[in-house]
Amino acid sequence: MNRKSDQPDYFKSLPADELHRRISNSKKALGRRLLILGHHYMTDDVIAHTDERGDSFGLAKIAAGTDAEYIVFCGVHFMAETADIITKSEQKVFIPDPHAGCFLADCARIQDVEKAWKDIRKITSDNIIPITYVNSGAEMKAFCGEHGGLVCTSSNSAAALKWAFERGDKVFFFPDQHLGRNTAYGMGIPLDEIILWNADETLGGNGPEAVRDARVILWDGFCDVHQEFNAAYIEKLRRKNPDMKIIVHPECDFDVARVADYMGSTAYIIERIARAPAGTHWAVATERNLVNRLKQKFPDKRIEILQTFEPYCKSMAQITLARLAFQLDQLEKGRLINRVIVSEKFAEGARIAINRMLELS
Ligand code: SF4
Repeated sequence: MNRKSDQPDYFKSLPADELHRRISNSKKALGRRLLILGHHYMTDDVIAHTDERGDSFGLAKIAAGTDAEYIVFCGVHFMAETADIITKSEQKVFIPDPHAGCFLADCARIQDVEKAWKDIRKITSDNIIPITYVNSGAEMKAFCGEHGGLVCTSSNSAAALKWAFERGDKVFFFPDQHLGRNTAYGMGIPLDEIILWNADETLGGNGPEAVRDARVILWDGFCDVHQEFNAAYIEKLRRKNPDMKIIVHPECDFDVARVADYMGSTAYIIERIARAPAGTHWAVATERNLVNRLKQKFPDKRIEILQTFEPYCKSMAQITLARLAFQLDQLEKGRLINRVIVSEKFAEGARIAINRMLELS
């Protein structure tokens, strides 16, 4: 039977300074065998212990290039899955809370995507290239790998669409309708050539002609955090602060993207604000932990979140200091808990789709 000090609940009861101390000690003990990756949406106390931080694209590239034996992923489940797919078989990937999912990734189930694919192909002979946003399950990535498609992130979605249109007539994009629409429109594809596919309706809620004419078919999925921003609030803010710059993540809806000054991935948002002159004023539409960290990092600029409250990702928040401390404690003791293993049934196809993405840039 486990002792109390071997239980996650015991770690929850420890004060923060004790958790910090334990994490630092475990890191020292595991040394170069361990690499801790952290997504920008993690809280400050967790991010303080990460060896590398980044957005999903940046972290995927780091995971692909490391030789560490243990990779602890402070992020959500699909990110750890992606790391497992692209690392060597002797490397092991862990997530401190295996229940940290992603609302957006859960918007698409493989059986619904496969049914939609069959329905679309029944009524058009066009060559269709599937693209899945990295915020999706391994089965979705495998589907893309097996059907001539690829994975994309918010950093490279335009390059992925370009890649697809060099090889096909239509793109089937899932699960995030907003990233798909914002990217396609930004590349000059008009809205009347972009349709939405609702899995609960016949032909996704479209007529056969609309499906035949569409160049981009978008899955009806979205991120609940990025839906908290709205164009009406932006207009109101602008009237009060005419010099303020609005910068948004492409998971925000089309109306928000259209009235923003800048739109781009997490990495783009950080870089754009870092390069801006002192004294500039920014309103940012993305997760609160990143925005608050930007505020601390650039005190010479005025930075605020683009909402009256602070939208945050509940899934990312599941990775707490106590969970990280418990994870490392167990690894130090040779207990490989919370390991993320993608079955080879999906890993092979998913690897093809991810590698196509990694070759884009
Ligand atoms: S912010 Fe949205 S897309 Fe990102 S992990 Fe959370 S739910 Fe998923």
